[in-house]
Amino acid sequence: MNVYDSGKMADLLAPLGFAEALDYSDSDMVVLNTCHIREKAAEKIYSELGRIRQEKERMKKSGREMIIAVAGCVAQAEGHEIFARAPFVDIVVGPQSYHRLPDLVKKAANGKRVNGLIDLEFPEISKFDSLPEPKGGNVSEFLSIQEGCDQFCTFCVVPYTRGAEYSRSVPEIHREGLKLVENGAMEITLLGQNVNAYHGAGPDGEVWNLAKLIKHLAKIPGLKRIRYTTSHPLDMDDELIAAHGAEEKLMPFLHLPVQSGSDKILKAMNRKHDADYYRKVIEKLRRTRPDIAFSSDFIVGFPGESDADFLATLNLVKEVGYAQCYSFKYSPRPGTPAADMDSQIPDEIKSERLQVLQELIAEQQRKFNESCLAQEMEILFDRKGKYAGQIMGKSAYMQSVHVNSAEDYAGRLALVKITMARGSSLAGKMIETGEENRYNHIRKIV
Ligand code: SAH
Ligand code: SF4
Repeated sequence: MNVYDSGKMADLLAPLGFAEALDYSDSDMVVLNTCHIREKAAEKIYSELGRIRQEKERMKKSGREMIIAVAGCVAQAEGHEIFARAPFVDIVVGPQSYHRLPDLVKKAANGKRVNGLIDLEFPEISKFDSLPEPKGGNVSEFLSIQEGCDQFCTFCVVPYTRGAEYSRSVPEIHREGLKLVENGAMEITLLGQNVNAYHGAGPDGEVWNLAKLIKHLAKIPGLKRIRYTTSHPLDMDDELIAAHGAEEKLMPFLHLPVQSGSDKILKAMNRKHDADYYRKVIEKLRRTRPDIAFSSDFIVGFPGESDADFLATLNLVKEVGYAQCYSFKYSPRPGTPAADMDSQIPDEIKSERLQVLQELIAEQQRKFNESCLAQEMEILFDRKGKYAGQIMGKSAYMQSVHVNSAEDYAGRLALVKITMARGSSLAGKMIETGEENRYNHIRKIV
């Protein structure tokens, strides 16, 4: 979502004469778009700001000004502290108020330090009304449909930094989707902190859910692939599960974070479901769409996590068999209930557990990639490879696939026979190209 937001900020600032630079040296303005989800991400911004400050001072000596803005969730949570700790920062602006950037930049250019944060206790998510039309231009694009979260998992800062759940209206999303496709997008990933809780106003005056929205967007000619992320298992309703069987543009790959395999820990995390419920959701999805593959997020070392709890996580991972996963050491976040829980887990234990889990995940990812060997897969090519004559694309399962080809296939779907599988990527040979070659069954189950 930060990638999406950063793109929007660039679009907002373009009418003021700003264009994106490759790096911040000699830049008239730097926007640091920050993430507050784990401590490491939040702490990084102060060292980064230190480096940017040196450039600002260097430019000042030659009579040029640099405006520094800190945006994103760290700004929302710690904006006042940032202003105090880093007096060279000119603007702080949160994730729900960055549409005000043009105005804030004008003020900063007049020498004012400006706080553009909004109070999320009284949310008024109107930013989408003020954002310019998307520029797009990429084969694969993000489209934000939902923001904020009402789940309040006990470890998570999102409800405090992004605010309450909010869904954009269907016509607004549809318009943005059309524009993106007009500008070359073939794949759109619908974004939201809890995207399957989507409940936006439909064109018929009814409230539409995600399944209905996806079916509507799938009618856009030229759009080939639809994905959505990130989902909560609780909001994986039957209609959405059925859409995975019925809508061929919906990719057979789902990021469905479970966080832990232990019922005790899931309860303490306030995830509101147990491990068996999750297993059933996975089972239903597999029945509906047999070639579907999954990824998940896991947190190890949540307060009170015993060896047995961790073992339950390993067992769940083994049972489900993921194509890929993200895993993190629990990081206490200020203001969240889990940060004040007793029985915090020592860092050495978190590290040990993380290593064990990551080895298992890497093994599963390798196996999954190997299961694709010799298969014909539909690849969406979107960029040149590292080496001359190489082009890169993505499979339905988000695997990076490279192929040797003299032609420029960027922006084409093509069938590729997979000839090599590595830990995190595949290589193959082009079989045929062209849109007529769409495959319904993308992966054979082995
Ligand atoms: N809405 C999504 C996740 C948003 S945050 C969901 O419900 O799954 C992305 C991931 O960061 C989470 O899935 C979780 O695994 C991780 N995460 C969030 N807070 C964390 C914390 N305090 N410590 C470690 N990992 C965390
Ligand atoms: Fe955070 Fe996701 Fe839980 Fe919402 S559902 S509180 S975003 S982890």
